[in-house]
Amino acid sequence: MARYTDDSIERVRQAVDMLDLVGAKTELKRSGHQWMGCCPFHDERTPSFSVNVSEKVFHCFGCGEGGDLFRFVELTEGLPFREALEYLADRYNITIELSDEDPRAAERRQQRDRLLELLERTASWYVRQLWESDEAAGPRAYLAQRGLDEQMLRQFRVGYAPSAWDAVLLASRRAGYSERELWDAGLVRRGQKGNLYDFFRRRIQFPLCDARGRVLGFGGRAAGPDQQPKYVNSSDGAVYHKGRHLFAADLARAAAAKAGQVVLCEGYTDVIALHQAGLTNTVGLMGTALTEEQVGELARLAPVVLLALDADSAGQEAMLRAARVAAGRRLELRVVTLPSGLDPADLLLSEGADGMRERVAASIPFVRFRVERALATEDLVTGEGKDRAVEALRPIFGDMPASALRDELLDLAAERVGVAPGKLGEWLAQPPRAPQAPTQRAAAPVDAAGQAAPSRPSDRPESDAISRVERAFLVQCLAQPTEGRAALAAADLERAITTPGYRRAALLLAEQLGEAIRVPEGDDELTRIIAELQVRAPQAAVGGRASLQAEVLRLELAAVNREIAAARGAGGADIVGLARRRTELEAAVERQVEESLAQTRATD
Ligand SMILES: [Zn+2]
Repeated sequence: MARYTDDSIERVRQAVDMLDLVGAKTELKRSGHQWMGCCPFHDERTPSFSVNVSEKVFHCFGCGEGGDLFRFVELTEGLPFREALEYLADRYNITIELSDEDPRAAERRQQRDRLLELLERTASWYVRQLWESDEAAGPRAYLAQRGLDEQMLRQFRVGYAPSAWDAVLLASRRAGYSERELWDAGLVRRGQKGNLYDFFRRRIQFPLCDARGRVLGFGGRAAGPDQQPKYVNSSDGAVYHKGRHLFAADLARAAAAKAGQVVLCEGYTDVIALHQAGLTNTVGLMGTALTEEQVGELARLAPVVLLALDADSAGQEAMLRAARVAAGRRLELRVVTLPSGLDPADLLLSEGADGMRERVAASIPFVRFRVERALATEDLVTGEGKDRAVEALRPIFGDMPASALRDELLDLAAERVGVAPGKLGEWLAQPPRAPQAPTQRAAAPVDAAGQAAPSRPSDRPESDAISRVERAFLVQCLAQPTEGRAALAAADLERAITTPGYRRAALLLAEQLGEAIRVPEGDDELTRIIAELQVRAPQAAVGGRASLQAEVLRLELAAVNREIAAARGAGGADIVGLARRRTELEAAVERQVEESLAQTRATD
């Protein structure tokens, strides 16, 4: 694929206002030459995240994350470099150029750009129809009766497609678009005689956008009770693919990143109503069951997802499905409990914005929801009913690591079933199949960082955490070469660094740090890794020797965690001694981080 010219990248770098870019994700305060704030990449109360506005680089002394402006967008928006560049170019109005684009690819890109432009125009046209045409009086009244403000509806670019068979068709032809383009954009259908007509007619139009806010298609809601079906969506075509995006992801992005939470609901008007209530971190499904791709989108928006789906059985099924799709991802699911038969937009009307915000704030962990549901569906008076409830509860408790929440839920379930918690625990511990499963599963999340190397490392959050620690250590070594070389010489690199690429980088740096670094010719992976480390190093240097020391300790901590997991697997060994060592290391890391922060302030 053709790449963007270095000149383009440079112009974007020049144009970006780092304070504006980072400030949208976390509040920054000036501290000498630096700006400091709470890190958007890990949970913290006291700021250890520093930004150098003139160099346009950032570094977190708490978790070691860092890099330049592009890296920041890659992380916060979940985009690969190329798209991060396009995102910034869009946002700061910079035209970027591809070097030697293959002519066929260039043509495809131009065609796509024209379709996007057509969809954009059409969205604006629908908006004018909604607010200006006589025909839209009914839809305007309906939206007002749903309690939605004009300002909100305009922000979401809600529009109206009139009942004529050819309004969009004629207007677009006049603007120079071909029939083929109208077809590819999903705006027309073909009749039996081969004639084209408008696909969306007499419908309230909700634009469906990608994460960058570009209109890809529409969801159309019937304007009258006589129309079937109630909702129609753009069908899959040249630009729209159903199940790939979330409604309003572009509008919710900043608020979701800031809150660390994203609310997911079903209907378009629910999403708009929640935004109006101040819950601007809300996104919606687009008329489909939650897909893998949408779960990926959710994970990019925030680490915690609050499901605000209908309490009816379809909504409950949707939540269980969401949990299945989300399993194995670093995503915490919580449930906003809604009274049966009422959707968020109804509730907003009956309980007001405060009431809705309270409901969202009172969300419960998904496991609690599952336990309550399992108990609610069985008749707990008879012995058979109780047995069935225990069967239903067994996999739920089997998946739960030992925790206060688990104990609390066990107490709750025991009370409802009418036995002592200890007795219920005993029943639940008798798995019908795979007798060893529950204890192993329970142990896994507790010592997540210490798991043995998984078969597909990049899929596993724990291995992400490990490679982050290893990378942060190497970045610090580069940031202070003299001390770094000593630290590399002192470390047992085979034991300390498990990610193969980083281990090779460590061995190279152990030899060459402080001199010009030469990567063996043709070793692209190592070249890439060294470049990645070098980008991060300047900003990491601010924390001084204490930061390097903190990373050395973290590396040791990760190694001890691995040894604890191995010891547990082997059935014993010196777990107590290792656990004590772990506690000491954790305290030492804390002290070093404090010191490196003091250092940051001192250099200002
Ligand atoms: Zn951090």
